[in-house]
Amino acid sequence: MAEADLSHISFGLIKKGNTPKKPNKWFQTDIVWRNVIIFILLHSLSLYAAHYLNTLGLKGLMIYLFGHVFGTFCGMGVTAGAHRLWSHRAYKARFPMRVALMILQTIAFQNCIYEWCRDHRTHHKFADTDADPHNSKRGFFFSHMGWLMLKKHPDVKAKGKLVDLSDLEKDPVVMFQKKYYLIMMPLLAFVFPTVLSHHLFGMTYWYSFVTVGILRYVMSLHYTWLINSAAHMVGNRPFDENVSATDSLTISVIACGEGWHNYHHVFPWDYKAAELGGFGTNFTSWLIDQCAKVGLAYDLKTASEEIIKKRIQRTGDGSHPKVCRKEKDESSEDVMVWGWDDKDMDESEKKLATKI
Ligand SMILES: [Zn+2]
Ligand SMILES: [Zn+2]
Repeated sequence: MAEADLSHISFGLIKKGNTPKKPNKWFQTDIVWRNVIIFILLHSLSLYAAHYLNTLGLKGLMIYLFGHVFGTFCGMGVTAGAHRLWSHRAYKARFPMRVALMILQTIAFQNCIYEWCRDHRTHHKFADTDADPHNSKRGFFFSHMGWLMLKKHPDVKAKGKLVDLSDLEKDPVVMFQKKYYLIMMPLLAFVFPTVLSHHLFGMTYWYSFVTVGILRYVMSLHYTWLINSAAHMVGNRPFDENVSATDSLTISVIACGEGWHNYHHVFPWDYKAAELGGFGTNFTSWLIDQCAKVGLAYDLKTASEEIIKKRIQRTGDGSHPKVCRKEKDESSEDVMVWGWDDKDMDESEKKLATKI
C-alpha cells in the first residue's frame, strides 16, 4: 500500500518555507522539552487533585469553587492589569492600584508584566503572521498552549524588538516585579495559596498545594489560552472580518470580558475591550469602572458610537445585531496597532475617542 503524503501537515510546527537556517546537527527540534515536561507534570497533578476533591464530596466542591473564585480574582491582575492597563494603555491607574494589580498578576503566574506585554503587543501588531507569538494560523493547539512548548519563530524575536516598551521601563512597579520575579512568583503563586487553603479548609500542605495551588493555576491558564485559540477561530466578526479574532459570549463570561476579541483587535485601546461593559459579560470593565469611581483609575479611553458604527459598516461581517454592513471597501487598508500610544495609531481616531 502506498504511504500517505503527510508533508503538507505542519502539526503547528514551523512550515518548510519559513524554517530558519540551522547548523547541520544530527538531532534538531523546535520543541522546548523543559516546558513539555513541566506541562505534563502540572496536568498530571491537576488530575490527581481533581480526583482527591471528588473523594471529599461537598467539601471538595467548596474547595474547587474557592479555587475558582480565588483564581478569577487574581486573574484581574492579568485582564485589568497586564492586558488593558500595561499592554494597551487603555486607561491610567494610580500607584496603589498598580501595586495591587502587579501582586495579583504575580499570583496568576503568566510571566512578569514586562514580558507578558512584549508578547501581547507583538501579537496585536503582527496578528496572524509568523511574528505573532501564538499565531492562530498554525492551528488550535499551537495557539492554545503549543507555542509555549516550541522555540519562538525568528520573526517573533525580530519583530518583537521593534515594539516600543519604553513606557513600561519607566514604570517602577513593572520594573520592580521584573527584577524580583523569581523570588516573588513562587511565594505569591504557590506558597501563599497553599498556606491560605491549609488554614481555611484544614487540608494538609500537600493537598492544599495540589488543589488551590496547582489545579487552580492550570484551570486559569486554560481560560486565558482560550482567548488566543478559540477566540481566534470560533464566533462572529462583527467589527472586522479581515482579522481572525472573533466575538464570543461564552469566552467573555469565562474570561471576565476578554472574549469580545474581534472588537478588541479593532480597538485595542478601549478600556472595555468590548462594545459594552456589564458585570456578567465584562467583569473586568465593571471593576475598572468601580476603581474609577474612587479615583484609582482615570483617563479611561473608549471608542465613540460613531467610530464603532463606521467601522462595522466598512469592515464588519454583517453579524452585528444593530448596524448593517455597507458596500465592501477595498480602497483602504487598516494598520494594526497595539494600543493607545502606538505611533501608527490614526490621529483622527484618537481625537474621536471618548475619554472618561
Ligand atoms: Zn489585547
Ligand atoms: Zn488576539
